[in-house]
Amino acid sequence: MDKIRMTTPLVEMDGDEMTRVLWQWIKDILITPYVDLKTEYYDLGLKNREATKDQVTLDSAEATKKYGVAVKCATITPNAARVDEYGLSQMWKSPNGTIRAILDGTVFRTPILVKGISPYIPTWTKPITIARHAYGDVYKNTEMQVKGGGKAELVWTDKDGNETRQLIHQFTGDGVIQGMHNRDDSIEGFARSCFNYALDVKQDLWFAAKDTISKQYDHRFKDIFNEIFEADYKEKFAAAGITYFYTLIDDAVARVIRSNGGFIWACKNYDGDVMSDMVSTAYGSLAMMTSVLVSPTGVYEFEAAHGTVQRHYYKHLKGEETSTNSVATIFAWSGALKKRGELDNIPELVKYADLLEKATINTIEDGIMTGDLYQLSSLDNKQKVNSKAFLEAIGTRLSALMQ
Ligand code: NAP
Ligand code: MG
Repeated sequence: MDKIRMTTPLVEMDGDEMTRVLWQWIKDILITPYVDLKTEYYDLGLKNREATKDQVTLDSAEATKKYGVAVKCATITPNAARVDEYGLSQMWKSPNGTIRAILDGTVFRTPILVKGISPYIPTWTKPITIARHAYGDVYKNTEMQVKGGGKAELVWTDKDGNETRQLIHQFTGDGVIQGMHNRDDSIEGFARSCFNYALDVKQDLWFAAKDTISKQYDHRFKDIFNEIFEADYKEKFAAAGITYFYTLIDDAVARVIRSNGGFIWACKNYDGDVMSDMVSTAYGSLAMMTSVLVSPTGVYEFEAAHGTVQRHYYKHLKGEETSTNSVATIFAWSGALKKRGELDNIPELVKYADLLEKATINTIEDGIMTGDLYQLSSLDNKQKVNSKAFLEAIGTRLSALMQ
């Protein structure tokens, strides 16, 4: 069988610890036997970030802008313990944060559903994708505690030096104050990423905020979404047979619980932070959650939602067997290869990516799974296997499907 050829390289961002081990095995066992893999390789492992003074992270993000599609392995975000462990000259910033800032993207997280692992909410038969706005609001706030009474005001100074003042509160005792902001261009980018993604996956888009209470701030989000939808997306949505739906955040929460899933839920920064943890827990496992960063200009970076699984890596280093779930990382690869196939018009590559996902799901539904899923699965014939045996079991099924 001839290997599938690629025309444009995928930006490959290698990472750390157990996920770096899985990364190589996934390529060797599941990808390179079938695809003449063309990547531009960036080693975002912490050692190389230190060696390049983090230039490699910036370069990988620029390459993603140039080529349009990247696949990223989980990486260590250094803390004090990592500075000692790796002898770092600096506590380098989170690569995900750096890449997100350069691509100005929105993060879409989607659970992978398999038979035998039922969501805690029984009506959720289809996945719910959360799209979280990753800029501003309470994450870029200024806040203070005030003592003994006094006046808090909101002061806006325009570029000519004119001041507009509004009373926040006349305090008679102690209290707290908070100032926060967002930018129209960031909200517009968020809206466009969401509309484009909904068209990509042909699912309805929901957006919710608290515009009845926040008549300027949250209302601005609602208005921007609406203006962009009316101007640029209304007809495209109609043609794709999908809808855009705005409602209040409390109404949205109630509807989400009653729903069957199968839609995208766009959330303001804080709502997305809180709700994505609720949704991912309800679906079962972080190791079964895909994550893709989509820029307003249509650049894609695929990754797993979990970390580098440090505890398993230390076992691996001691020569002990691990049973680490590689599903989210496999789906990062299949998502990236599928997108490359769509953009470059290579149907065989799209087909291969679909079959890789199918082989992965079939393996788990046949009862072969890693320890984390073994604990959750209700299948009678379930069997716990080690990290490599799991990939090999997928490989066997993929090989049969590719015939
Ligand atoms: P983690 O790697 O997500 O793992 C936490 C625990 O969750 C694991 O010890 C394991 O539980 C379970 N788990 C997570 N992924 C799993 C998988 N694929 N298969 C089986 N079990 C899995 O989080 P962490 O240990 O807190 O963080 C480790 C490093 O990852 C940190 O340096 C952090 O900075 C980094 N991180 C990176 C990203 C990213 O690049 N996107 C995201 C988050 C964290 P058991 O030990 O009970 O088996
Ligand atoms: Mg959170």
